[in-house]
Amino acid sequence: VTACAGLALLFVAIGVWFSWRPESEANDEFLRAIRDGEFIPFYQPVMDIETGRLRGCEVLMRWRRANGQMVSPGQFMAYAEANGHIFAMTRSLMVQTVDEVGTLYKENPDFKLSINLFAGHFMNRDIINDIKAIYGNSDISFQQIVVEVTERYPMEDMSLARKIIAEMQAMGVRVALDDVGTGHGGMAYLQKLGIDIIKIDKMFIDSIGDDDSSTTIVDSMVELADNLGMGIIAEGVETPEQVERLRELGVTAAQGYYFAKPMPANEFIEYAEKVERD
Ligand code: C2E
Ligand code: CA
Ligand code: CA
Ligand code: CA
Repeated sequence: VTACAGLALLFVAIGVWFSWRPESEANDEFLRAIRDGEFIPFYQPVMDIETGRLRGCEVLMRWRRANGQMVSPGQFMAYAEANGHIFAMTRSLMVQTVDEVGTLYKENPDFKLSINLFAGHFMNRDIINDIKAIYGNSDISFQQIVVEVTERYPMEDMSLARKIIAEMQAMGVRVALDDVGTGHGGMAYLQKLGIDIIKIDKMFIDSIGDDDSSTTIVDSMVELADNLGMGIIAEGVETPEQVERLRELGVTAAQGYYFAKPMPANEFIEYAEKVERD
C-alpha cells in the first residue's frame, strides 16, 4: 500500500512539475524579453488619399528576438494582456516613440501618432499619468497623439472608460474606435465613449467594390461619421481599386499594404521625408 501511495505521489509530483514548469519558464522568458527591450515599435503610415500626403502613423508592436526573428502581436498579445505585462510593454513602446520619431513629429506638427490600447487600460487612470509623463514636455505633443481602443473585446466599466477618455480629450489626445463593425460595442460604444475617429475594419475594405453590402456598410459609416462629426480611417487597403472606391465614398484617410507595411523607425522617417518631398 505504501509503495502504491508512494508511486501515486511520484506521478502527481511529476504531473505538477510538468504543468507548472513550462508556464513559469515561459513567463520568465517573457519578463526577460521586456527587460531586454525586445518589444519594439513598428510604424505604419496613414495616408490622406485626397492629397497624397502623410497624416501620420499607427504604432504596432513587434517582438524582436535575440536571434533577429520578428514576432507579430498575434503570437504574444493575448498572453501579455492576460498577464498584465501589456501595461509595462505599452509604456516602453511609448517611450521608444519619443526617442525614435520625436524629431520627425516636432518638424511636422500636423502628424498624428496612433497608439493601440486594450480594454484594461480604461479601468484606471494610470494610462493618463503614463501619457503625461512620457509625452508631456517631449517632442511629440498631446495634440499629435491618438489612442485606439478596439471594440473587439467588452469594456467592463463604461462610465469609468468614458471619464478616462474625456480626461484624455481635455488634454488634446484623440480617441479612435478600432475594428468598427466586428465586435461588441458598435453604436453603443460610439455614443457612450465619445469617440473622435472611427477605423473601418479591413473585413469591409476587402470586399468593397465587388460586394454591394460592404459598399453600403462603408457608405453608411461615412455618413454616420459625418453626422456625428467624427473622422474616419479605412484600414487594410491593398489595391488601387479600393483606394478609388474609398475616394468615391468620401473616405479621406487610409492605411494598408497598398501604401506601406508596418516598418522600423528609420524606414518610416525615410518614407515620411520622401512622401512630403514628392
Ligand atoms: P490592428 O490594430 O487592427 O492593426 C492592424 C493590423 O493589420 C496590423 O497587424 C497591421 O500590420 C495589419 N495590416 C495593416 N495593413 C494591412 C493590409 O493592407 N493587409 C493586411 N493583411 N494586414 C494589414 P499586426 O501589426 O500584426 O497587429 C495585429 C493586432 O495586434 C493589431 O490589430 C492590434 O489589435 C494588436 N496590437 C498591435 N500592436 C499593439 C500594441 O502596441 N498594443 C495593443 N494593445 N495591441 C496591439
Ligand atoms: Ca489599431
Ligand atoms: Ca484595426
Ligand atoms: Ca482590423
